Amino acid sequence: TQELHIVGGGMAGSEAAWQAANMGVRVVIHEMRPKVETFAHQTGNLGEMVCSNSFRSDDDEQNAVGLLHWEMMQAGGLIMRTAHAHRLPAGGALAVDREAFAEAVTAALHAHPNVRISYDEVTDLPDQGTWIFATGPLTSPDLGAAIQQETGTDRLAFFDAIAPIVYADSIDMSTAWLQSRYDKGETEEEQKAYINCPMTKDQYEAFIDALLAADKTEFHEGETAGYFDGCLPIEVMAERGRETLRHGPMKPVGLTNPHAPDVKPWAVVQLRRDNALGTLYNIVGFQTKMKYGAQTAVFKMIPGLQDAGFARLGGIHRNTFLNSPTLLDAQMRLRSKPNIRFAGQVTGVEGYVESAAMGLLAGRMAAAELTGAPLPEVPQDTAHGALIHHITGGAEAKTFQPMNVNFGLFRPVDGLKGGRRGRKDRYKAYTDRAKAAWSDWLAQQRLDGAAAE
Ligand code: FAD
Repeated sequence: TQELHIVGGGMAGSEAAWQAANMGVRVVIHEMRPKVETFAHQTGNLGEMVCSNSFRSDDDEQNAVGLLHWEMMQAGGLIMRTAHAHRLPAGGALAVDREAFAEAVTAALHAHPNVRISYDEVTDLPDQGTWIFATGPLTSPDLGAAIQQETGTDRLAFFDAIAPIVYADSIDMSTAWLQSRYDKGETEEEQKAYINCPMTKDQYEAFIDALLAADKTEFHEGETAGYFDGCLPIEVMAERGRETLRHGPMKPVGLTNPHAPDVKPWAVVQLRRDNALGTLYNIVGFQTKMKYGAQTAVFKMIPGLQDAGFARLGGIHRNTFLNSPTLLDAQMRLRSKPNIRFAGQVTGVEGYVESAAMGLLAGRMAAAELTGAPLPEVPQDTAHGALIHHITGGAEAKTFQPMNVNFGLFRPVDGLKGGRRGRKDRYKAYTDRAKAAWSDWLAQQRLDGAAAE
């Protein structure tokens, strides 16, 4: 069989290589470090963690990241296996000794008989051969330009601008209401695509004070602040004038509060539906560099969001990522050039674990293609399936921003209580269902593999 070329030996590329090599495919990893550096990486190791040394929660019953850990372990994942081997005490989180971890990932791939590592930068999207591009949030500039040339400049972003995402079922609809501005939209569903939270003058003034006072994160050294108008952090908008937000994302026009039709709100915070399932809503225009703790406190001041659960908090980072819902097919292949797959953070997932998970899938998919053994479809009710389904189809393409794994991406389980009290049972039901589906998916591949031999 043909070789598989993997560009980038980070979380996704390392995992993809491991999976494909274990399926009998010969793999070449192309890694530009240490020859070409990024502002965040410090070494020439594969699988280097650029910031925190944590893979987040290891709870596989109540946490979606923990479930992803479990699924990767079952699939013989290199990143998870190595993380467990170099674990440091950190409560419920899976934190590791970062150097020992990256050295062990590098050593395992060097030692694998099917893997060759070539320390070079790849700067184009080849027409021939089977490729996985897993070049991450700091994809090299020349390659970024080549990708933009293939996809169009508006389909590859160099910064993210993430507004917080709220679980729909945690919004208090006795205060908030469904309505699009000026009732825009053809269908009733479109006219109700937004959730609105009203504010009085006093509430608005208190909110602006809190925004101005909140703790903010600075951009990382070397990460030049490149906000563009249109995605300014809300606190920067507030700094430009106390009324700026009321004339911007919080303008109260074209909306009528059915709970108090005669009272005109002073300001309105809008949330927009974020996925086809309707389980997630993002706060429109609320991208922010506030610290996470500050964000929760400030956003819970919004009437209707006092009990909000956040599927992800806001942020703005240097981050190269594709508009995957329009560019990639269900197997993460570039629609315009199907010999090329993307994997990892460049596909619009966020975080070490999510990136490695998308590498795991891409590696298996590419290897299955090369060996001629078809891969059964990734079940949507698993954590891997929920993520890949979101980035390649479920997410709104127009407003696509990077996503981390969370239970809002899962299809609801029938017959369970909603709201806060039912949450524990619901999460257990999601993880039980996911584990059964993932185990079946892996077993099916073992059977297919055995039959092929
Ligand atoms: P990476 O791990 O970045 O791997 C990509 C690899 O591709 C790199 O080794 C790079 O050298 C190589 N490469 C790039 N271009 C080329 C090319 N043209 N040719 C050959 N090789 C190339 N996530 C967290 O979970 N926790 C955090 O605390 C965290 N902090 C972060 C801080 C910063 C400053 C940044 C930029 C990101 C942070 N992330 C964090 C996100 C994290 O980097 C990613 O989730 C994860 O590393 C992505 O995995 P990946 O394999 O997609 O990319």
